[in-house]
Amino acid sequence: MFDAIRRWRERRILASSAIPDALWSEALGALPFIAIYSEPELARLRERVVLFLHAKSIVSAQGFEVTPLMRVMIAIQACVLILNLDPRYYDGWENIIVYPDEFVTNLGYEDDAGVVHRRAEPLAGEAMPGGPVILSWPDVEASRDWSSAGMNLVIHEFAHKIDMKSGEANGSPPLPSEMSRVAWQKAMSDAYAHFGSRVEEGADTAIDPYAADSPAEFFAVLSEVFFAEPTLLQMEYPKVYELFTWFYRQDPASRAELLLER
Ligand SMILES: [Zn+2]
Repeated sequence: MFDAIRRWRERRILASSAIPDALWSEALGALPFIAIYSEPELARLRERVVLFLHAKSIVSAQGFEVTPLMRVMIAIQACVLILNLDPRYYDGWENIIVYPDEFVTNLGYEDDAGVVHRRAEPLAGEAMPGGPVILSWPDVEASRDWSSAGMNLVIHEFAHKIDMKSGEANGSPPLPSEMSRVAWQKAMSDAYAHFGSRVEEGADTAIDPYAADSPAEFFAVLSEVFFAEPTLLQMEYPKVYELFTWFYRQDPASRAELLLER
């Protein structure tokens, strides 16, 4: 019954809030890693994007103008993560705030001793538990193509959002019932320890060394690699790659040859 009502509401939104073809094509063209998806998958992604843009508010900060193309580019990258997942992974918060440049957040955090710290260094992106995702547009623009940036900011922040579905980001998102929590913890902590020691040794890693910062950052950075440069993750951490194929229900490395044709 509730499912039927939800589907009816979704059909109404899809009918009234369609994305113009030219805008959709332009946004896809700006995101090279999307080239692996088939036409039926892109049609499903487009529906997810329309529903996402209806559910979330993408607002600007500091007088920045967020264009329709920016909105669709952000939404496509956010929805790629949940293309084959329950979209309710993104429930419980509403806003995406886009800054004209890197930003400093006013929100402090309290440490174990009860001292409230304010972060002074500017950020390119941040995902707040139960709150907004904040993005610097120049960093979104610069990281839309892995081959030039070696990172993807939007995927990173939305991976944190998926992780935060079970509370604070800790690298352990809620897993589907058929996946083993123990196997996840073991593969992730083994890979995290291995990567951390490489970074500590000063190794020149192809994966962003920021991944060694915490298990939460490890999950977010490896999610970027999984979607935007999948063969790199498969090569470096095959066990993690395999777990991610089960978790995200996608196998992007198996289609990586399509990326070469882009
Ligand atoms: Zn992060």
